[in-house]
Amino acid sequence: MLRIAVQSKGRLYDETMELLGEAGIKLTAVKRTLLVPSRNFPVELLFLRDDDIPDSVATGTADIGIVGLNEVLEKRQKVEIIKELGFSKCRLSLAIPQKHQYQGVEWFNGKKIATSYPRILEDFLKKNNIQADIHVISGSVEIAPGIGLADAIFDIVSSGSTLVSNNLTEVETILSSEAVLIGNMRKLDDAKQQILEELLFRIEAVKTAENKKYVLMNVPRAKLNEVVTILPGIKSPTILPLADENWCSVHTVIEEKHFWEIIGKLKAAGAEGLLVLNIEKMIP
Ligand code: ATP
Ligand code: MG
Repeated sequence: MLRIAVQSKGRLYDETMELLGEAGIKLTAVKRTLLVPSRNFPVELLFLRDDDIPDSVATGTADIGIVGLNEVLEKRQKVEIIKELGFSKCRLSLAIPQKHQYQGVEWFNGKKIATSYPRILEDFLKKNNIQADIHVISGSVEIAPGIGLADAIFDIVSSGSTLVSNNLTEVETILSSEAVLIGNMRKLDDAKQQILEELLFRIEAVKTAENKKYVLMNVPRAKLNEVVTILPGIKSPTILPLADENWCSVHTVIEEKHFWEIIGKLKAAGAEGLLVLNIEKMIP
């Protein structure tokens, strides 16, 4: 049984559960208790606060974990990043009140910076030879300058709307983060290693299918060559005959963004009855 530490609630929770669900892992209980086994795969989920996930993996309480890269780097536990998962993307940035002129990182000399990520900030300040006072707070960092608690903040930014509503401007981006799968490989026995490999294989299949679409269309035989040359990167699409000999059906897999680029050309070339389907998994 492989134990996976995941966030019990918060910004990582939904997409973590979605990924595991798409990888075919079903849980026994709908109601969340601390430790929930899967009923069809040899894993169990340990639900924790995200702050505790790196430590749980480093100490072996959990075998692997899913957590933000920002937490992994801040906590400095001995864990390895096994895989980047591509969700919960955000960045850690320095932001200052809009009223100030910013000309460079020297602005922070002698300033007080509020953050929940003191270690990552300390590294950055050291690297840039800045002497600043780090003030650690665990939440609502963005209100600190407004209430006179700090001159600036170092915090998670995604859209930037929280900064704007607090009259702050992002001036330095220090880290790009996303959810990552972490582990402590030395601690895994052969049986667990095998389960992990199967899990990684499944996650890979889910990730490969993301953003890809299965596209079917009817094409007049006379236009087949033209349509095939429009399809991006496909050497040999599947071509099936239709009851009407003058038509055939073309099936292919393309990236969704490419689909929008070529839809007009396909229609102009005579393709009809286009169907665009989601792909659940792809195994190369
Ligand atoms: P916990 O109660 O588990 O300690 P938390 O309040 O510390 O949760 P959340 O706000 O749920 O943390 O965020 C968890 C992680 O999600 C962050 O560490 C970060 O990696 C990522 N994250 C945070 N904010 C955003 C955002 N706005 N967009 C995308 N990802 C984000
Ligand atoms: Mg937390």
